[in-house]
Amino acid sequence: MTNTCKNCGVKFNGKFCNQCGQKNNPGRFSFKHILEEVFHAFTHADKGFLSILAKLATDPGKVAYEYIVEEKRKKYFNLFTFFVLITAIAAFVENKDLAMQESVFHTKNEYGYLFNIYSKGLLIITIPILAAFLWLINHRKNGLMFSEYTVFAMVLMSVKSMADIIVKSFNYLGTAFFSRQGNLDNNIGYAIFLIAIMSYANYSFHKNLRQGSIPKSLLTGICFCTIQVGITIFIVWAVLNNFQGLGIFDMYGIRFSG
Ligand SMILES: [Zn+2]
Repeated sequence: MTNTCKNCGVKFNGKFCNQCGQKNNPGRFSFKHILEEVFHAFTHADKGFLSILAKLATDPGKVAYEYIVEEKRKKYFNLFTFFVLITAIAAFVENKDLAMQESVFHTKNEYGYLFNIYSKGLLIITIPILAAFLWLINHRKNGLMFSEYTVFAMVLMSVKSMADIIVKSFNYLGTAFFSRQGNLDNNIGYAIFLIAIMSYANYSFHKNLRQGSIPKSLLTGICFCTIQVGITIFIVWAVLNNFQGLGIFDMYGIRFSG
């Protein structure tokens, strides 16, 4: 029996459309369907959100290698969608953390909010710079393109956001339950931790290309943190020197607060 795909109109035999992969007659939405879809989105063995979280937490370099170099684009949850989602979650958690600190310590941290908003922009700027660095030190050996390293840098930034979510959650809980001041991420330990994660991801990615190099990987990790710190210092400098602090935002009626 020939079926006509409801999604793309192609005629096919069997259970799934051979053009787009949609199931034959998915049927009208019932609440059972809705629950199944939501459950599926989170727990799908390979392509679910939790699966990609676990894989990026254990071996981000391998995920990036399979996605970019081996062209396994359907194996995982879409990495571009993942980047957008994880960035949004990180921004949300960071905002909650700032609001909690303000309410417990009765302080105003306008710069914190400024940075929460702009750090997401910072993230976007970091990607091409990091990609350029990776491409410069590696492409002669492996022929990968700048654009491919851009995807890799995006995966690395997603991993950084995952680390931020965990650290900011601890900050939040520490402030909420123990009135603990000081953030886990504002110290050299967190920078070293990030350098370690980035170096590991780089090593794994290039090891799969048979080009694993510990010095290059360490250099990339250090470069990653240097870019972040460099851009941060630049923004602070620019805001303080050229805009007389946050006054410029007040002028336009923009207020940073929870
Ligand atoms: Zn179809």
